[in-house]
Amino acid sequence: MTDDLLTDDLLTQDHKRLREYHAALRDALRAYQEQQPIVPDLGDVLADAAKAVADKEQQELTGQLEQARRIAVELENEVARLRDLVADFTDSDPCHYDHHGYCQAHFWFQAEPACPHRRARELEGGAA
Ligand SMILES: [Zn+2]
Repeated sequence: MTDDLLTDDLLTQDHKRLREYHAALRDALRAYQEQQPIVPDLGDVLADAAKAVADKEQQELTGQLEQARRIAVELENEVARLRDLVADFTDSDPCHYDHHGYCQAHFWFQAEPACPHRRARELEGGAA
């Protein structure tokens, strides 16, 4: 073979063939890529999962906090009703203790616990 055989025409034919191969390979690659399932990035998946868990925990904690607040309000209301009831039951007359420490004024015959009227006045913050 001599250089004479490498004509411009022959080079052009090889070039065209190479371009056809290239186009066919490119199309095949595109078809392959389109058939592949989309695989998400693992870091993104983990970040999304962590955020979902955090959001869920936050939601649960918020719900528990709201429930605790409702219970606290109910308890405060109940304590207020009981304090009112105790105040109504309490004799405003002072206790009178004998030598045993019993309250003769309210017929309370034990030293411990002390006379309930005394304890009730202490509960109200008044004088024992
Ligand atoms: Zn008493």
